[in-house]
Amino acid sequence: MAGKSSDPKIACPVCESAARVVRGRNITPLYREVTYDCTNEACGVRFVCSVEPRRIIGQPANVGDCGLPVVAPGSGDAINFLCPMAA
Ligand SMILES: [Zn+2]
Repeated sequence: MAGKSSDPKIACPVCESAARVVRGRNITPLYREVTYDCTNEACGVRFVCSVEPRRIIGQPANVGDCGLPVVAPGSGDAINFLCPMAA
């Protein structure tokens, strides 16, 4: 089964060609693994990326103590996945 359309687009970590989602699964409600195939037939690498919340941007009213750092908008709010090729 293919991953969700909302899974992040990412380049192949070997050849930097586009990669397509093969499948995604929630390991926990806050941690998702997404499997990709490189679209470059000469490469053909399959790899797994991790997606998880890293920080909260801004100061919503009901954050509570969820354990995530809270940062001001514009200060490090870029997408930050564990996979090293994330843009
Ligand atoms: Zn590749």
